[in-house]
Amino acid sequence: MCGIVGYVGSAQAGPILLDGLERLEYRGYDSAGIAVLSPEKGLQVKKAKGRLKVLSALVDEGRAVEGTIGIGHTRWATHGQPNDVNSHPHLSQDSRIAVVHNGIIENYVEIKEYLIGKGIRFRSETDTEVVAQLLAYHYRKTGDLMTAVYRVLHRIEGAYALGILCADMPDAFIAVRKDAPLLLGYGQGCSFIASDVTAIIKHTREVSYMEDGEVAVVKADGIQVYDALGQPVEKERCTIDWDVSAAEKGGYAHFMFKEIMEQPEAVRKTVHPRLKDRRVVFDELKVTPDEIRGLQRIVIVACGSSYHVGMVGKYNLERLLRRPVETMLASEFRYCDPLVDEHTLVIVISQSGETLDTMAALRQARSLGARILSIVNVVGSSIARESDEVLYTWAGPEIAVATTKAYSTQLVLLDMLGLYFADILGSVKPEEYESIIEELQALPAKMEEVLENTEKIKYLASVCFNHNSIFFIGRNLDYALGLEGSLKLKEISYIHCEAYAAGELKHGTISLIEDGTLVVALCTYAPLFDKSLSNIVEVKARGADVVALTDDSHAEELRKTVGNVLTIPDTHTIFKPSLGVIPLQIFSYYMALQRGCDIDKPRNLAKSVTVE
Ligand code: GLU
Repeated sequence: MCGIVGYVGSAQAGPILLDGLERLEYRGYDSAGIAVLSPEKGLQVKKAKGRLKVLSALVDEGRAVEGTIGIGHTRWATHGQPNDVNSHPHLSQDSRIAVVHNGIIENYVEIKEYLIGKGIRFRSETDTEVVAQLLAYHYRKTGDLMTAVYRVLHRIEGAYALGILCADMPDAFIAVRKDAPLLLGYGQGCSFIASDVTAIIKHTREVSYMEDGEVAVVKADGIQVYDALGQPVEKERCTIDWDVSAAEKGGYAHFMFKEIMEQPEAVRKTVHPRLKDRRVVFDELKVTPDEIRGLQRIVIVACGSSYHVGMVGKYNLERLLRRPVETMLASEFRYCDPLVDEHTLVIVISQSGETLDTMAALRQARSLGARILSIVNVVGSSIARESDEVLYTWAGPEIAVATTKAYSTQLVLLDMLGLYFADILGSVKPEEYESIIEELQALPAKMEEVLENTEKIKYLASVCFNHNSIFFIGRNLDYALGLEGSLKLKEISYIHCEAYAAGELKHGTISLIEDGTLVVALCTYAPLFDKSLSNIVEVKARGADVVALTDDSHAEELRKTVGNVLTIPDTHTIFKPSLGVIPLQIFSYYMALQRGCDIDKPRNLAKSVTVE
């Protein structure tokens, strides 16, 4: 969600900023802009609604703005329509300060009223403009930009990553963060800021992550960081080890398809380092066996697809541990006065590690005494840093907005965590543990097998893509799987679809089934296969067209009732969703392709949701 990039060095800033913004496109945005500063031309701001190519054309691919220092932004509108005026950067009234912002200034109305009372005129409807105007106001009063920045930080409330460029400071720009991602990049004779590393990896692998309340003064020859009290801070640097090509399409038409295909390898990377002598081992965990035995409850908190991982986790962890496991949406958890305490393990799941709702839920759970374990993909992200324990998914960069490989790696990691705890608690019989490990080892190869057979799914999409209403039904793990399948499809194809627990259908929703309604029936959960079959018969009796998914052992049986059956290889029950999700992802992909949708960047969506 929203992207910030900043550059200062000896090269022209315009093209570098545009390139960085292009690499942040996947995060989702509706408009874009840059501000570049030069001694001759002063502060030049160009911005435009729509895709980056509009901005790029406006500034002749960056050549029309002059200067070796600048900041850029892709906006995902929260306050004020996506239009040229509301796009960032925002300028102070005297046009000497430009600001880019990711997040929300919650008390912007009162600040705006205050400044209007002082005679300041606003140009946009955004919350962000108050930062530029308030900063200029204090700068005029104090004559010192850093003092003005700290005054602003004391006054504004909410979440923000800010890039600030001032005409009076031609060799540096300022970066600030609180509850929104921002990192610093150290190049050869140049420096950067960025919302995430993909924007700058082409130029440098040396980065450090800003902490809440920190202020950075970014110059070509170095970056000085100060804490909330203005004291200098020594930042720890880390080196990004993944390859630039990991964030490129590599011959695939879409990032989403590439990432679907990368799942076996990503899962292998997640699983292998944590399997030793046929046991799950988490060297990175500090929690002791006694502490694990003392846990009374597990609460999984997440949003979107990560929440669906948690839904699978509820079934799998309860089965493995015989302890209560509850899965909650982070945006609900944080406002429901949750019942967690020091005997609760709260597992938070987030691909980016920056999801604002999840972050807020984490903080709340921690304040109530719970132990926090996070499952995240992005090393050094805010959620990772604020958790007691972190398990990294090692999925590599995920660019498509609709998650695939991050989902799969989160899921397998959560299953492994369940196995690890079960081993300590002795809640799974040794023979079953053995057989699960065997299947865990075989999982990447079985995923490959599923990926080799996509033709049938492609064909099904070609005959189903005109449906405007689709239901996913399943029981137990298949219900959790259906939630993800349905989300994937609606996200990228814009078809209205819903997931229902198959047994629940008759309690209301079956009234929506009519001639030609498409029902995707998930029947991979063997213990309830017969029950699911009955539900299929019920919807067929009301005219539904059914596409079903099951494992190899049940395919023949299912074909007696359903014409269109997709299959996955047999595996242990707990891994059925890990295999089952792949045909659903591919189905969504081809449905969206048939409908001509912008698959990697679906409308209105953002990859990393850093606002409430
Ligand atoms: N709240 C700001 C706006 O609506 C920033 C949104 C963003 O993070 O892109 O302009």
